Amino acid sequence: MSNKVLIVGGVAGGATAAARLRRLDESATIIMFEKGDYISYANCGLPYYIGDTITDKEKLTLQTPKSFHQRFNVDVRVSNEVISIDRQAKTVTVQTSTGSDYVETYDALILSPGAEPFVPRVDGSQNENVFILRNIPDTYKIKDFCNQKKPATAVVVGAGYIGIEMAENLHALGIEVTIVEMADHAIGPLDYDMACEIHGHIRSKGVNLLLNSALSGIKNTNGSTVIELSNGSKIPADIVIMSIGVRPETSLAKKAELSMNSRGSIIVNENMLTSDPNIYAVGDAVEVIDFNTGKPAFIPLAGPANKQGRIAADNLCGVKSRYTGTQGSAILKCFDMTVALTGMNERQAISEGINYEKSFTFSSSHASYYPGSTFMSIKFIFEKISGKVLGAQITGYDGVDKRCDVIATAIRAGMTVDELADLELCYAPPFSSAKDPVNMAAYVAQNLINGNSKIFHWHDVTDLDLGKVTLLDTRTAGEFDNGTIPGSINIPVDEIRARANEIDKSKPVYAFCGIGLRGYVACRVLTQMGFEAINLSGGYRLWKTII
Ligand code: FAD
Repeated sequence: MSNKVLIVGGVAGGATAAARLRRLDESATIIMFEKGDYISYANCGLPYYIGDTITDKEKLTLQTPKSFHQRFNVDVRVSNEVISIDRQAKTVTVQTSTGSDYVETYDALILSPGAEPFVPRVDGSQNENVFILRNIPDTYKIKDFCNQKKPATAVVVGAGYIGIEMAENLHALGIEVTIVEMADHAIGPLDYDMACEIHGHIRSKGVNLLLNSALSGIKNTNGSTVIELSNGSKIPADIVIMSIGVRPETSLAKKAELSMNSRGSIIVNENMLTSDPNIYAVGDAVEVIDFNTGKPAFIPLAGPANKQGRIAADNLCGVKSRYTGTQGSAILKCFDMTVALTGMNERQAISEGINYEKSFTFSSSHASYYPGSTFMSIKFIFEKISGKVLGAQITGYDGVDKRCDVIATAIRAGMTVDELADLELCYAPPFSSAKDPVNMAAYVAQNLINGNSKIFHWHDVTDLDLGKVTLLDTRTAGEFDNGTIPGSINIPVDEIRARANEIDKSKPVYAFCGIGLRGYVACRVLTQMGFEAINLSGGYRLWKTII
């Protein structure tokens, strides 16, 4: 491999590349520059230090410059910012914390400078009680502020992953938290219908979640801060966290005239090589191929950054290695709930013009007769004709992560719903059901593809012309009395054979139950009696959550 490799950025992608390089080549000179004071720290764990879940600050740094040097013989230079690259001379200029510059030569260069948080240009965004969260110093600043100033109120701007994690952790400190989100739902990559349950969950914890609400300014009056929204509302905030997203931190690459896309991501090939044959780039700074669409995308996540760091090092050492795209598998702890997603969401399926179908299933995390089972909601997206698995979004408690990971694996392998239905997954009552929730989602999809079952969706309900169709609630009389979809009649599923004569056979029957299972059974009975019967996917529960 190249004798002297310089690495810019000492965290996820950079530190991985450095360690892999050394494992492959003992003789190389490897220098890793990090402009901050820390390397290889746990970005993803930072919110949990603020909320006191992680109490030992040492745990946030996985390696120190000294330990990294000892283990990997890498020259780690913290507080050293690479400020320019001379591609002709193959040198970088580095600025130290004292302001002095020096030049370092390279045979190969790996860029992993990451992404920086957006700070909206509104009045007051530079106030001393307004924070972003990217790294360890940001974390300490927030923690110190909380310890010293004891804020009673907080506004978190942005309901993405970091925003929700920060809301949860500030709430854990006893602070009254409001989340302000410009979009109509939290967690952008989720679809609206799956986000609704999360909205309810966040609010049930006592956090004020304001959707469709844009920040317009931050005002300090008489020592107290007020957040102003574009609809004129004002919310008190002793502390403000800005978490409205990140953008690639690529001014260095831009100055060096590497090929970049219009949103400032560095363009690389599948080997993570930039437009310069001696410069690789990895992590949040690069444009990736969206595995689901095959199109260029910006998907800043830790897993891809780590993989890409390894791939760049492999290729530098002559080990042919390709990055095959990012599919957006992600997971979030939202108080005691888990939200996980992988692959395409419905918006992408629509914009890609795919002939897709979706199903909503609601399954037990493990056999319901064994104590402690909880429910999970699965939105499953697949191609209508081929049955190709496209994406999944899962919310719930126990076991959400493993179901999403199984589906993530299926997507990588290009599997169909038939193959997903065939998967033999581990089962014993404390862990799962003999029909795992993933198998169940696939069975439902199979039924839709082969025409055994027809469904309608929560958003179709308002379009039903009750003069022309029968809306049938197949739940018990007690459930019906507690609330139903307006205009429905009630025949519980177990009475459907005996009472089918009460239903007008000349009209299609739009059936529903709690979560979709009894409605499906009722539809099967009715269909075989000659009715046209269509079942509400996700049932009354999903409809009620969204409406
Ligand atoms: P980084 O890890 O950000 O490292 C880049 C480093 O380069 C920085 O330390 C920066 O100081 C340094 N640098 C930049 N320019 C220069 C320069 N010119 N000279 C020297 N050094 C430079 N992802 C997940 O998948 N799951 C999660 O749960 C998750 N949680 C997160 C929580 C938080 C609070 C944050 C901030 C991020 C989280 N992420 C999560 C995202 C994840 O951390 C990033 O995707 C990942 O760290 C990107 O790796 P990277 O190497 O590209 O950049």
